[in-house]
Parts: sequence; structure tokens; C-alpha cells
Amino acid sequence: VDTENDCSWTWFFEQFKNAFGEHEKMCVVSDRNESIIKSVRIVFPNIPHYACIWHLWKNVCGNFKRTRNTLSDLFYSMAKAYRKKDFDKLMAKVDKIDHRVKEYLEDAGYEKWSRVHSTVNRGRMMTSNIAECINGCLVEVRQLSILEFLKEVRILFGSWHCKNREISSYTKDTLGRRFEEVLIINTSKSSKMEVCVMIHYFIFYVSNSVYHSAKKRKVCSCGRFQLDEILCAHAIAVLKEKNVKDMHPYCSNYYKSDALAKTYEIPMVPMPDKEDWSAPKDVVAETVYPPRYRRLAG
Ligand SMILES: [Zn+2]
Repeated sequence: VDTENDCSWTWFFEQFKNAFGEHEKMCVVSDRNESIIKSVRIVFPNIPHYACIWHLWKNVCGNFKRTRNTLSDLFYSMAKAYRKKDFDKLMAKVDKIDHRVKEYLEDAGYEKWSRVHSTVNRGRMMTSNIAECINGCLVEVRQLSILEFLKEVRILFGSWHCKNREISSYTKDTLGRRFEEVLIINTSKSSKMEVCVMIHYFIFYVSNSVYHSAKKRKVCSCGRFQLDEILCAHAIAVLKEKNVKDMHPYCSNYYKSDALAKTYEIPMVPMPDKEDWSAPKDVVAETVYPPRYRRLAG
């Protein structure tokens, strides 16, 4: 594409939709580029579009320079809060320090950047960091011509796939590394919790939190279980009380080795030499023109 404009972003999302489809509980996280917002609305009208909290905070800092240091921690805690009550308390503090920042964040839409307000569970995807990282790895190869560039990208992704596939094979009896860490921390917290009391068939009271274990309801009033989809300390305390030894079945399947292995199961075979390509006739017959170039000022 020539530049990042409405047309090129719409084209990108159309291709993405062809390849990936549209899924329930899917969301788009971006740096709030105007063209991305417009294109997502056109191509994925039913998919919510959220902000990368890092980019959003940069915008706030640009607009209100004085408060940047004092409010940064409060902002990130708000964005990652698990309960609306905690969010409101933090926002009240922000309001006291600088009312304009509160207004700015309100205008941006709470559901766009606060985990607890989003309409679909965005899990740990609070930033567009993954795209920035990949971008960072491609700085040098971006200098190449398009075919050479694609060749390098393919090799890079192929090697990442291979490495991740290998890592997933180490985690057969555990969750993926980061998720297992969360589970371990929660397990240690649970040992300090007061003995739980069963209130109703599936309702338990644990150290000031109410945990519902009914099949479909897997929720805890701390908010963590339903958002992280990893057992919170309260839920672990209940399961320990019930003599459950293996906590993994109660965590999301996405964090298990099967899902990790499946994600990386297809090897990315590098392209052979151009001489050895066997492209379909209709592809060969197609003439590809360069994009219409908009001459920039100067
Ligand atoms: Zn809990």
C-alpha cells in the first residue's frame, strides 16, 4: 500500500476477514488511528474496537503535560481494574487531581480502555504491544523489495512457530508459562484465606468474597476468575476444601498446552526459489499494478 489511509486499512481488514473470519467475542485493539477506526466499522460492524492503553495514555500526557507523572499509576490501575467499584474509586482520585483528565478519559469511552467496562473479555490484550514488537523486528527487512521482504517475514514467523511449538511441548502438565505463574501466585494467596463456608449448593463465602461455582456461572465477586479465566485465590480455596488436587481443568482451555500446540501446529514452509514456483495460471495471468500514489506536499 502507499500510505496508511482509509483505503489501505479497509483493504487490509477485508483480507484479514477472509483469512480469519469473524468470531464471537472477538475485538480489535489499536492505537486509535482514524483510518483503522473507520475501516473496522466498515468491515467488522459488529466487532468492538478498543484502545491500546499505552497509546491512549501517551495521548493524555500530550494533552495534559503537568499531570503525567502523578496520574500514570492511577490510570493503569483503572484500566486493569477487575471491579467497577475499584475503577470508580480510582477515577474519583483522578477527578480530584485533574478534572480535565477524567473528562478526556470519559470522552474516549470507558468501554474502550477499561477492562471491566469492555463488552467482550479482552483478557490480557490491553495494549497493541504485540504489533509493535513485530514491527520492531521488521525494521531492517522493511528496506527490502516486497518479494524479499515477504520471504524474510515468512522465515521469521516460521522460526517463531517452531520455537513456540517446542515450548508448548514442555507444558504438558501445566498451563502456558505466564498463566501457570498466575495460578501459582493465586494458590499461595489462597492458603492465607479463611476457611470457606458453603452458603448454597454452588455459592461459597471465602475471605470477604463470594464465589459461585455453578457450571455456567464460574464467577467470583473479586472479578478475577471470570476475566482472567484462571482460578482466583477464592475459587482455589473452595476447591482445596473439596479436596480437588488438579486445578488445571478449571482454567480456560486457551492456556493449556493443547491449544498452544494447535496454534503453532502448521509449519511455515519457506518459499522455494522463484524459478521453482508453480503458480496457478490465473495468478500468473494477472497483471499487478503499483498502487495509485498520492503526491505529498513538497
Ligand atoms: Zn475471587
